[in-house]
Amino acid sequence: MVDIRAWGLRFPPTRRLYEEDAYLREADATLLGYASEKGRRYYLVLSQTIFHPRAGGQGSDTGTVEWEGGLLKVEKALLVGGVVVHYGRLLSGGVPGEGARVRMAIDWEARYRTMRLHTAGHILDYAVSRVYGAPVETLDAYHSPPEAYVVYAAGPPSATEVEAIERVANEVVAADLPVRVTYVRREELGRALLNAPNLSRLPDAEVYRVVAIEGVNAMPCTGTHVRRTGEVGEIMIRGVESVGGGFRLVYDVG
Ligand SMILES: [Zn+2]
Repeated sequence: MVDIRAWGLRFPPTRRLYEEDAYLREADATLLGYASEKGRRYYLVLSQTIFHPRAGGQGSDTGTVEWEGGLLKVEKALLVGGVVVHYGRLLSGGVPGEGARVRMAIDWEARYRTMRLHTAGHILDYAVSRVYGAPVETLDAYHSPPEAYVVYAAGPPSATEVEAIERVANEVVAADLPVRVTYVRREELGRALLNAPNLSRLPDAEVYRVVAIEGVNAMPCTGTHVRRTGEVGEIMIRGVESVGGGFRLVYDVG
């Protein structure tokens, strides 16, 4: 059994191509190292990646890493410090030595759905704030299949308020607003954000990645988003349940 945290931290931070271009489905990388587990399972660290790990309220991508004479099915990607560790099963061949060129491909259909769900989650933050009359803090969120949700720190909405939240959210979708990613220095952050809750829980960093939906909100986020709100499709609230300290809003995109 490998201590994957200790092992992963030996590598330099992974360049995260998905933060630069969420629409990248395939890309090359250099193999920096691997560790093996029983049952032909391996952990791989690459020089750069298109695999979003499970982190920041978003699930892990799946896909493949291929090289001359071998193929690994990536079942999940983990974030260890700044290093993305790819875990999966070797389907053919053997793992090459350090420095080998590999070709990555993500399961695009699942990723694109996650992109639409993640942008929908930001839109719902805005819609909830609009209906409640002030930004509502979020306690937890998961923007990937099988069940996307956000936990808001407020009393649960009435049936009429749920309808209003859904209506406001779908107005943002219909407006087909641009979604932009910018990088903002800590000193500039106050001016760059819009309708952003949870600032007290923000990790300390020199530079923040900010995802802005024009005129709606601009929030620190490391996730993958669609380019325009129209790509999200219809936002549907599937359920609302009270949880400790707030309510959990389960949603989906059509
Ligand atoms: Zn986000």
